[in-house]
Amino acid sequence: MTNARPNILLLYTGGTIGMVKDFKTGALRAFDFKNLLEKIPELNLLDCNINSVSFEDPIDSSNMNPEYWVQITELLEAHYNQFDGFVVLHGSDTMSYTASAISFMLENNTKPIVFTGSQLPIGHLRTDAKENLITSIQIASLQHNNIPIIKEVCLYFEYKLYRANRTTKINAEHFEAFASFNYPDLAESGVHLKVNHDYLLKPNLKEKVQFHKHLDKNVALIKLYPGISEHVLQSIFETPHLRGVILETYGAGNCTTESWFVELLEKAIIKGIHIVNVTQCSGGSVIMGHYETSSQLRSIGVISGKDMTTEAAISKLMYLLGQKIATEDFKTIFETSLRGEIS
Ligand code: ASP
Repeated sequence: MTNARPNILLLYTGGTIGMVKDFKTGALRAFDFKNLLEKIPELNLLDCNINSVSFEDPIDSSNMNPEYWVQITELLEAHYNQFDGFVVLHGSDTMSYTASAISFMLENNTKPIVFTGSQLPIGHLRTDAKENLITSIQIASLQHNNIPIIKEVCLYFEYKLYRANRTTKINAEHFEAFASFNYPDLAESGVHLKVNHDYLLKPNLKEKVQFHKHLDKNVALIKLYPGISEHVLQSIFETPHLRGVILETYGAGNCTTESWFVELLEKAIIKGIHIVNVTQCSGGSVIMGHYETSSQLRSIGVISGKDMTTEAAISKLMYLLGQKIATEDFKTIFETSLRGEIS
């Protein structure tokens, strides 16, 4: 079998990585990605063919939303068969949300889709953008017998490759901006690119990829804190059309046992609102029933988010609510790992 050069598509959505300083105004602006190869001549040295597409109006990722997630999915769908791997350039602020959402929206994906970005623009002298971009392209190009080695949606930042739906942005200043507390790194970049093959997702290569584009935004994310009032919670649960809530609880999934609180949740569940319990802790898992302060949640039918990140849980909720899933199956499906998001 001859080894053809892999075809890689760069998809630029916006973010610091693709910005250059306008020397007249001093402000950062998106640069034309068609000129990418001219701006970063190192890309010519990579053993792959690179093409690029860009959002018409690149955005700061703080403006990201599910409509843009659909746009990214459509771009991936339009180019899926012509390319062996994809690198999505995205602002780091909401990258974990987008990358998690895309992992759910692509069912039976068998190609590398690597999200990356940077803390400093690509034209900055001390930029982290070049290493992040070059290594992401190399990772997307890794093949064995013309088949990609990475077959999942992942996120590369500062020498580490993570499973996308396990990541969280943890630092606004350090180059090491992301972490994956509940799942090991998929690869590390040092003198050698070391892939941890045992931890990679191994999808069934015979299944056909499907692109899901229906997301339901009628969800809410509530972080508990000591003293949260009944009024505040009640008003959230009375939101018109609300269909699902991610509840960030304490420790292993614990919350207050006050009767007004449990009754409020129970009423919402009876009304058909799905409530998911995830932990506020960076690492570890929800274990409902481990303490008295979580056993009531289990008995009223709260869904366990297990060791899912908040980013994965909220995007999975929008994705599953967008599918036609029978109410009685929703809890079981949510608690099942669909794309390696649960241990
Ligand atoms: N605010 C920027 C964004 O998320 C920061 C970055 O690109 O890292 O788009």
